[in-house]
Amino acid sequence: MSGMDVAVGTQKKNMSTKDYINSVVDGVVAKNPAEPEFHQAVREVIGSLLPVLERHPEYRSARLLERIVEPERVFMFRVPWQDDRGEVQVNRGFRIQMNSAIGPYKGGLRFHPSVNLGILKFLAFEQVFKNSLTTLPMGGGKGGSDFDPKGKSDNEVMRFAQSFMTELFRHIGPDTDVPAGDIGVGGREIGFLFGQYKRLRNEFTGVLTGKGLNWGGSLIRPEATGYGTVYFAAEMLKAKGKSLDGKTCLVSGSGNVSQYTVEKILDLGGKAITLSDSNGMIHDPDGIDREKLAFAMELKNVRRGRIKEYADKYPKAKFIAVDSTMDSNPLWNVKADCAFPSATQNEINAKDAANLVKNGVSLVAEGANMPSTLDAIKIYLDAGILYGPAKAANAGGVATSGLEMSQNSMRLSWTREEVDQKLHNIMIAIHKNCYETAEKYGTPGNLVNGANIAGFLKVADAMLDQGLV
Ligand code: NDP
Repeated sequence: MSGMDVAVGTQKKNMSTKDYINSVVDGVVAKNPAEPEFHQAVREVIGSLLPVLERHPEYRSARLLERIVEPERVFMFRVPWQDDRGEVQVNRGFRIQMNSAIGPYKGGLRFHPSVNLGILKFLAFEQVFKNSLTTLPMGGGKGGSDFDPKGKSDNEVMRFAQSFMTELFRHIGPDTDVPAGDIGVGGREIGFLFGQYKRLRNEFTGVLTGKGLNWGGSLIRPEATGYGTVYFAAEMLKAKGKSLDGKTCLVSGSGNVSQYTVEKILDLGGKAITLSDSNGMIHDPDGIDREKLAFAMELKNVRRGRIKEYADKYPKAKFIAVDSTMDSNPLWNVKADCAFPSATQNEINAKDAANLVKNGVSLVAEGANMPSTLDAIKIYLDAGILYGPAKAANAGGVATSGLEMSQNSMRLSWTREEVDQKLHNIMIAIHKNCYETAEKYGTPGNLVNGANIAGFLKVADAMLDQGLV
């Protein structure tokens, strides 16, 4: 330790727990400027840990908070590729290996023009606690690129993915780091990435999840995040003696998570009435039935079109253009019982949250990662509505990735029913763990605290056991 580190450590020893927590957050902000999403995620998790640190002084003396906010390793690399006109393009690639205390790094890859280091660090940080909640042995990581797959041909996406993997392959492996999909990375992209990994390593292993069914993928993996979020919502309602049957639901986004959220809402007797993309939203007061959902899935997954076409096809549905300069999103101002934000981070601000509460929404279950700002979360908690935070509610996706890894290691495949049952049981277990932990630490019903504390404890204890690494 340098003289300065000793001084900081001693000074911190005399602080109250609250001041100590604030000093850790301040340190993160000072050390990682221009990463507001990362600051937000750290604030949200660490803000729940006061009662934990008061009961467990050993975490503070081992400086666990300071260690847990620092990624174990970060890779940032050039991704050169050639477009269809033969012109050279250059993107930036990333992989954040955040924490491996309880298993190999695990977390998705995001291809979206907004991707930067701070966004991926927030996602990797969240992933550590989410993976801990799944009951499976997985550490936390995240990666991606500022590449925009929108408007690119299949060949361009393939050339980009091959170039990306030509650097990434040396940092990952089935026992080291197992990436998956996220925004902009679906079955097509995972296929190209897997093909290049296999070619470079001459190895057929479970190095990626979300693979095709005939080359090592798991049944139910595409459905898992959306299904899991709705299973989690059903558990939240069950704890209050209620169910999803007959409930009207707002769903944002129209990608992987949104589509299977709508499907499971239908299975459980609810009615989803909205979808969106980055250009706008549709409101279908009659509900998105199975035929309309099939249309939306073909539109988004095969034709890669815009959600506006839904309203062209079904004229009773209304399309409303939405852009990022608006101070609130009209999707969150539609009257409904439940809300499933499933597009992207910070898509619900304080004004949107106030609109939800005003319109009678009594449950928010997060399919997307960190879709609610800290101010929005405060509004849900103050209003006393049911709130399922992302790291618990959407953990079904990575949990089923964990099940895909198990099947790959055993070289066998479980049936659809087996995987769905395991996913369902995991979501029930996550809800129970968050619910009971919230109660144990003095904030009954607060699943934000429950999820943060339960997720933290498992990782923190593993870090203590493993010494100063
Ligand atoms: P997809 O790429 O399949 O879909 C993303 C959807 O969100 C699209 O409709 C997209 O619209 C919309 N969207 C993305 N960025 C923005 C933006 N900045 N503003 C408005 N709309 C936007 O991604 P997924 O469904 O896989 O992911 C959605 C969310 O769920 C993300 O937060 C992701 O991290 C999270 N998640 C995903 C998991 C998974 O298993 N896939 C697991 C756990 C969490 P457009 O087509 O216009 O870009």
